[in-house]
Amino acid sequence: MPCEAVSVADRERVLLAGYALHSADSAGRKHAEPTHLYRGPFQRDRDRIVHSTAYRRLSGKTQVFTSELGDFHRTRLTHTHEVASVSRTLGRALRLNEDLIEALALMHDIGHPPFGHAGEDVLDECLRDVGGFSHNRQALRIVELLESRYPEFPGLNLSLEVLAGQQSRADKSRKPERPLLEVQIVDAADSVAYDTHDVDDALQLGLLTLADLEEIPLWRECGERIRARYASLQTGEYRRAVLHELIDRQIGDLIVCASRRIDEWGVATTADVRRVEMIIRPNEELFQQKAELERFLYQRVYRHPQVVTGRTIAQAQLREMFRGYNAKPELMPQNFQDRAATIGLPRSVGDYIAGMTDRFAQHEFQRLFAR
Ligand code: MG
Repeated sequence: MPCEAVSVADRERVLLAGYALHSADSAGRKHAEPTHLYRGPFQRDRDRIVHSTAYRRLSGKTQVFTSELGDFHRTRLTHTHEVASVSRTLGRALRLNEDLIEALALMHDIGHPPFGHAGEDVLDECLRDVGGFSHNRQALRIVELLESRYPEFPGLNLSLEVLAGQQSRADKSRKPERPLLEVQIVDAADSVAYDTHDVDDALQLGLLTLADLEEIPLWRECGERIRARYASLQTGEYRRAVLHELIDRQIGDLIVCASRRIDEWGVATTADVRRVEMIIRPNEELFQQKAELERFLYQRVYRHPQVVTGRTIAQAQLREMFRGYNAKPELMPQNFQDRAATIGLPRSVGDYIAGMTDRFAQHEFQRLFAR
């Protein structure tokens, strides 16, 4: 190791709290690997995810709004970066393992098919007889099976804590043990990010107006704080300031509430974290306000005719593609044809379609299946 470098374990002993997951306490990987000279295990996981094919393709996948609506709204990749950014802010304030947090955040949506939840619903319907489809489970298939990076084994051979964190997203049934705080943070940050950026994108696309949002208490409250701080703002400045306030309000609340719970419940180790109730969650008032904002977004944005039209067309195309590849597997790349022998043709077709970007799916539909 370079003489001035501090070991990962030494650095974490100084910086991380006792209730954080220290890299030295990792249970390791399915396929044992020698430790790296200067990167900790979760830093390596993060790097493996960033260098994966599925991660790069997030740039071409819909978050909520498809590319027909414009170029300025979030993609699945920029959403992922915002989740990682919020997660790291929370994690640093609470002295948690930022490398583990970042790995979890960057992989959390890696299993999304083209066209977001619209695509997910179609694949779930098409694969119902063989176990259905969920983007959270697909993320695990990608990092354990579908990514091909190493000659010795399939997948990325990520640390068991990263896999367990994603597994807890995939299986929401209440478990006797709570997830690590690093896992809880990414869930909370996902919600902070999409509640805020979906409002921003909907305003930008003209699906909502500032006046519409005034009926939502959380927005109104943030707006009042901004008006108290600034005598006058142009519309665009006001909008950006309220959105900023909306993120700060949520992050600040999560840090305060989590710190209080950690103190009051005497949480000192990861074993304590697993034993007590969920620590990273907003207070009850903010929880209710967020639920109201989410109901509003659901009714006014996610079901907006402009959004629904694009979704309906995409769903019909994906259904047709699923049928088409099952009828003619030779239209798929060789590795997906080969894998069908062990996992079944429908699942392999599902894996192939799920890996596509929106644009590639549309292109392949036109090239192979359009009538
Ligand atoms: Mg997400």
